Order: sequence, then structure tokens, then C-alpha cells
Amino acid sequence: MLAIASFIVAAIAIFLLLAFFQSPLQLWSVGAGAYLVTLSIAYQWSATTNAVVFGIFAVLAAILNVGVLRRAVISNRVLAIFRRILPDMTQTEKDAIDAGTVWWDADLFSGKPDWTKLLAIPAPRLSAEEQAFLDGPCEEVCAMANDWEITHERYDLPPKLWQYVKDKGFLGMIIPKKYGGLGFSALAHSAVVMKLSTRSNALAVTVMVPNSLGPGELLLHYGTEEQKNHYLPRLAKGQEVPCFALTSPEAGSDAASIPDFGVVCKGTFQGKEVLGMRVTWDKRYITLGPVATLLGLAFRLYDPEHLLGDKEDLGITCALVPTNHPGVNIGRRHLPLNAVFQNGPNSGKEVFMPLDWIIGGREYAGKGWMMLMGCLAAGRSISLPTSSVGGAKALARLTGAYSRVRVQFKTPIGKLEGVEEALGRIAANTYMMDACRIMTAGAVDLGEKPAVISAIAKYHMTERARHIVNDAMDIHGGKGICLGPNNWVGRGYQVLPVGITVEGANILTRTLIIFGQGAIRCHPYVLREMRAAKEMQGAAAEIEFDDAFTSHIGHTLSNGVRAFIHGITSSRLGQTPRNGAPETRHYYRFTSRLAAAFAFLADVSMLAMGGALKRKEKISGRLGDVLSMLYLVSATLKHYEDQGRQKEDLPMIRWVVRDLLYHAQEAIDGILSNFPVKSVATLLRWTIFPLGMSFRPPLDARNRESAKVLLEPGATRDRLTAGMYLPKGETDPTAAVEAAFVATIACEPIDEKLRKAVKKGKMVPQPGVDLGSLGLKHQIISADELAQWQKKEALRKSVIKVDDFPQDFGRAEILQKLGDEKLPHAVKVA
Ligand SMILES: Cc1cc2nc3c(=O)[nH]c(=O)nc-3n(C[C@H](O)[C@H](O)[C@H](O)COP(=O)(O)OP(=O)(O)OC[C@H]3O[C@@H](n4cnc5c(N)ncnc54)[C@H](O)[C@@H]3O)c2cc1C
Repeated sequence: MLAIASFIVAAIAIFLLLAFFQSPLQLWSVGAGAYLVTLSIAYQWSATTNAVVFGIFAVLAAILNVGVLRRAVISNRVLAIFRRILPDMTQTEKDAIDAGTVWWDADLFSGKPDWTKLLAIPAPRLSAEEQAFLDGPCEEVCAMANDWEITHERYDLPPKLWQYVKDKGFLGMIIPKKYGGLGFSALAHSAVVMKLSTRSNALAVTVMVPNSLGPGELLLHYGTEEQKNHYLPRLAKGQEVPCFALTSPEAGSDAASIPDFGVVCKGTFQGKEVLGMRVTWDKRYITLGPVATLLGLAFRLYDPEHLLGDKEDLGITCALVPTNHPGVNIGRRHLPLNAVFQNGPNSGKEVFMPLDWIIGGREYAGKGWMMLMGCLAAGRSISLPTSSVGGAKALARLTGAYSRVRVQFKTPIGKLEGVEEALGRIAANTYMMDACRIMTAGAVDLGEKPAVISAIAKYHMTERARHIVNDAMDIHGGKGICLGPNNWVGRGYQVLPVGITVEGANILTRTLIIFGQGAIRCHPYVLREMRAAKEMQGAAAEIEFDDAFTSHIGHTLSNGVRAFIHGITSSRLGQTPRNGAPETRHYYRFTSRLAAAFAFLADVSMLAMGGALKRKEKISGRLGDVLSMLYLVSATLKHYEDQGRQKEDLPMIRWVVRDLLYHAQEAIDGILSNFPVKSVATLLRWTIFPLGMSFRPPLDARNRESAKVLLEPGATRDRLTAGMYLPKGETDPTAAVEAAFVATIACEPIDEKLRKAVKKGKMVPQPGVDLGSLGLKHQIISADELAQWQKKEALRKSVIKVDDFPQDFGRAEILQKLGDEKLPHAVKVA
């Protein structure tokens, strides 16, 4: 009996070992053969038994190990089924799938992230020139920007600010120097947008858009030499203001279905008959559209007279249209949640334009979707993730300061546990968001166009910013609600949904893109299998499919076994980096465990649901969440290393990593609870959580320590909010809150003396007499201390002040002040 049990245990151990290390088929065969030989000797099998058992083994081993046999018996049959059930992809879907590159996301998808490799990637750094730009023009432009003037008085940037932005090259950060641009790295681009976002959203968006997906980026990748030489220097210096018009009333998220169209035809341009296109479009929501001089226009091009070739429906095409061209209608504005950056509709009806206006020339007619998808990742990695981090940093610093200055129940509100809880979240989330910003921009600087990672960064940075602004609003109470020059939270709260909606609305990004694209692009074998099935023929297809398919099985088995073993060993065998800090070692192990679980779950979900998984957005959204959490943990841990393992940052890391791991676990739990095949769900749960769900939410103690970072001046707070604009002096409302914060802390010993004196009955507070003066009178504090205390009080009062307005909210006065200056439409109407 004991011997049987030991043989069973040995068999399981061999199986687990071989699967854990994803051993090749030959090793499996050797292992199985050796096991059978041991059994044969131990149980003294008869010659007949040996012949039967080893005969069957030899046949199976031959089928599995000899490529020709394996293909004939197994993989060619699977290939045939695969070809039958795999839906045909449209060109649009193919372009989206092929776009961009995969990077660390592929490691996570493998189930075995190589942490040593990740940590060996050097931390991205700004050049001296880039730093000088941030310290010079970028500081200057922030100092010039007054958000209330922009959002309430002018509904636009003042002309001086517009000019400065153009003259200093802010609109041409991504344009190489040879064309007169700044030629900045992605990190520098991100640092600039982040700083601007800490000052004025309208300013940040105005700078962000020309440096994101649009005419500049498209010209750089696909423009003809003539187009590049003409437009890029003009864009770099702001002589052209670009916009990019894709969205139509009928085509928002489903942008590939735009009804805007052009027809190839002959026409007259500049007095000559040329081959061109007559284009009709109706676009909306176009940022910078109302003031653009150069309209990047996407439409579907048709060639019914076959003037260009055989094809009639050429497909989506991108052209550059000067907005002073007859028939182009621009100028009207939307009002996106009082953000007031220029945004509006534009249209044209049967506007004739030469074919040369197609970006890349006529060869690129119909290739617009491929061009857009190819260029999407770089901008999406930077614009919205970065502006969200800017918002987070500003809110973290200002909310922390405010909650130390604002006193209720005789206590700074930041020290009341309920407020502290929200503050702790703000601090830890800000740390993680900055980590994600830097790692993602760093990937772009390494030459990646990270398709899936940019979607993760866009979705999660905007969502975490939403949590942060909600927390900040709650902490500010009425002060955050009443808009005015003294409110530094309200506009951020208003404008937040813009980031959620643009560059792929968040629900769609989460439920359709992150896992949908990730499953195909980042998975080590799925794309190879699909290509073998749909794009290859004959022996080449069979060999490629066989290799990918057998590796895929090994991969799935290995990840299942690894998830199980990590589950029963509390992740003790999880990979850790050779070069990582000991204090964060366990987080790498936990993440490795979840990566194995995710990879296994992803494979089983694809197997169980096939093409239907695409429609099961609640499941694929959660799978995307797990992948995203793994990426965000990776970025956080790398940031800790890249910043030189700052021990004071550990509370924020501990809070946020636990939060991310817990969320990943919750997402897996959600998938398992809703998995359509219940028996498979049970097996999956036994495999992934053999001892139950072990990750817990972050501890209150870590939350308290994180909140403390925002409640104390010092290096940790400065490091967390590094790169934000800090106005000098005390007159600017955000400078005043910082000054009040410092003064409040410096005054605490004086406040304590006054408080104790009252408590001990040495003085009795009197209505209308301030406590400081009373303290001086009773010789509790000195005259110097009184001066210090009164200065602090003045600052405190200015910080808690809320704006009020005359009945017309000051509009009559504003109109008088602006005088003859051209006013935007919205103010004129008002
Ligand atoms: C302020 C602002 C600036 C913009 N700037 C530009 C610009 O410069 N150029 C430009 O071309 N466009 C621009 N846009 C357009 C922007 O990209 C679109 O608003 C966005 O693509 C969403 O389209 P929609 O608003 O029509 O929403 P809809 O497409 O109507 O979507 C509504 C909701 O349905 C969800 N949804 C849609 N399809 C799916 C799906 N398959 N699965 C799950 N959920 C789904 C979306 O996530 C969203 O939550 C801008 C928009 C705004 C508001």
C-alpha cells in the first residue's frame, strides 16, 4: 500500500516538476519512460505487460516527439478546426491588432515576469537641455497662466499666453530639431505636460494635442518629404495650429465607421485642372478645431471612376486641409465642462482638394486607419496619463496642506481619521501614478510604441485621478464646491470626465481593448496560431501552427501548475529579481504568483469561450484589470528602485501594492464567480486559490503613514510632488496655501501654549478678541510670537476664504476689462 502511495506521489511530483519548468516534450517523454521502467522493475511486470505498456508508450512518444507524426495525428486536425471557427478579421481589426509593440506586458502575459531584466532597464532621465526648458519657459508659462482668468473671464488662453506657447516651441515638442522643433524625449514631453497640468488644464490640453496623435505625428511617420519640409517647421514654431478631426456625430467610439467621405475626381485647384477629391464631412468634439489653421481630416475615400486603380472603396484616408480653404467651416465651440480649451465642430460639403493633401501622398490613400493605429500608442502613453498625474500631484500637495491648515473640532482636519483615510489614498495613488507615467514614457524612449500598455496607462491613470479628485473634493468640503479664483479643486473635478472620455472612452478601453488586444498581441503563441491559420498556407502553416500550438499547451499547463504551487506555498517559490531591494522582495513573489494565475486563467477563458469572449466584456474587462494591476505593481516597484530605495516612501508603496494585488485578486474572483462553465470555474478556483484568497486590503497603519507624507513638509512630500509648478510668494491662492501650511506648522508650539493656557484657566477667550493678543496680554506668548501667530492667522483666513460674486458673476466688469479684445463666442452670448 505504502509503495503504491509512493509511486503515486512520485508520479505527481514528476508531473508538477516538468510542468513547473515548462519542460520540452522530449523531457516529458524521458520522465514518463523512466517512471515506467521503475514501475516495471519494482512490480516485476511480465514480458507481456512490458510489451503492451512500452508498446503504447513508444507509439505515444513517437506521435508527440516526431514532428511529422504529431502534425498528422494532432495539430493538423486542430488547425483545421481552428480555421473553421476563427472568425475572419476585417482589415480595420487587423490594423488595430498589428499596431504598436509589446514590452513588459508580454512578460506579464507569459506568467513568468523576468524582474531582473525589468530592474536592469536604466531609469529614464531628462537631458540638461530638457531640464532647462522645464526650469525656464515651462515655469514662465505657468507663472503667466491664471486659471480663473482663462476659465471664467476669457474662456480661452489670453493672446499673450497663446503667443508665448507658440514662440517657445511648446507645440512642437515631438518635432525633431532638424525641422525646428524641440525634439524632446517622451519623458521630457511628459514632464512638460505634467507641469502645465498642475497649473491650468486648458493650457495643458492646448500644448498636449499638437504633440499627440495628429498632423505632426502623422507627418513624421508617413508624410512626403515635401509635406514634412513645408509643415513641420511651421508646426514647430506655432505658425500653424493643428487639430485632428476623426470623430463624427454617428461615429464616436466606433471611429472606423465614420460616414465622412471623399470621392476621387478631377477639379480645378489654383487655376489648374488636377486630380483631387471632393470631400464631405461633419465632425464634432475636435480639440483646437475652432482656432486651427491646419485640419487633419479623416474620411473614407471612394474612387467610383477608377481614376486611381481597380478599387472603389479605398478606405479611411487622412489629409491635411488648410482651414482657410474655401468650404471649410470652423469656429463654433463646444463647452467641455468649463475646461474652455478650444474644442468644437467642423464641417465641409463637397470641398475639392488635391490628392497631394493626403498625408503621405496618393500612395497612402486608404491607409489612414493603419496610420492612426500605428501612431496612437506614443501619444496615448503620454497625454492623458501625464495630465492625470499632474492633477494628482497638485491635489496631493494642496489637499495635504489645506487639511493641515483647516481646523475643525479644534483639530487640523487631516488628523481626523476619516479625512486621513482619504489623504492616505491620495498619497499612495499619486506615487503609483507617477511611477506608471515614468515607466511608460521610458518605454516610448526605448523605441516602443506600447499598444496595450498605453491603454492600461490611459485607463488607470484617469480612473485613479477620478478617485483622487473625489477624495480631494470631499476633504475641501464647501471650499471645493464654490468656484472662483480661490478654488483649486473645482475645475479639476469638473474637467476630469474629459480625460475619461477622450482617446478611447474608458469603459471601452477597459472592456474591449486592454485584454482584447493584450490577449492577441502579448500572448506568446495566440498571434502565431492565428497567423498560421488565416494568413499562411501549406506546410509552412502546418509547421508554424504545430510549433505554436504545442508550445501553447506547455505554456498553459506550466502556468496552471505554477499558479497552484505558488498558491499552496504562499508564493514562496515566486520569482524575485537578483538586484531588487530585500524589503520589497515579497511583492515580486506575490506578483509572480498572480502573473502565473492570470496567464492560466486567460488561456482557459479563451479556450472555454473562444470568440464569444470578445462579447463577454464583463469577463474580459476583469481579465484586463488583472493584467493592468500587474503592470502598475511592476511600475511601482521599479520606481522605488530607480529612485534609490527611499525608505520614507515605503508606506505609500506598501499601501498601493497591497491595494493593487487585492484588486487583482478581486478581479480573478469575479471572473471565477461568473465563469460560464461552472465545473471549469471550480477547477480554476482549486488551482488558483487552493488555500483560499490570501491577499488582504491595505492596512490602516500604512494608510496613516501615507497620509502623514502630505501633512508634513519635507523631502518625501517634495519627491512625491516633484515636477509640479509651485508659484512663489503668498498672493497666488495656491502659493498662499503652501505658505499657510508652513506657517501653521511653525506656529504649532505657540498654538499649543495658547491652548494649554485656556485649558488651565490662565486666560479666558473673549468674543471679538483674538487668542494671540489675549496670550500676549496674559504673557503667555511674546510679541514676536504674536506677530508670527497673526501672520499665520492671516494666511489661514485667506486659505479658507471662499469667493463670492455680484449677481452677474462679474461679467459686466469682465467685458469692460477685456474692452476691444476679441471675445470668444460663449462670453459674447452671456
Ligand atoms: C472634450 C473632447 C475632446 C475631444 N477631442 C477630439 C479630437 O481632437 N479629435 C477627435 O477626432 N475626437 C475628439 N474627441 C472625441 C472622443 O474621442 C470621443 O468622444 C470618444 O471616442 C467617445 O465617443 P462618444 O463621445 O461619441 O461616445 P460613444 O461612442 O457614444 O460611447 C458612449 C459610451 O459607450 C461606451 N462604449 C462604446 N462602445 C463600446 C464597446 N464596444 N464596449 C463597451 N463600451 C462601449 C463608451 O466607452 C462610452 O462610455 C473629443 C471628445 C471630447 C468630449
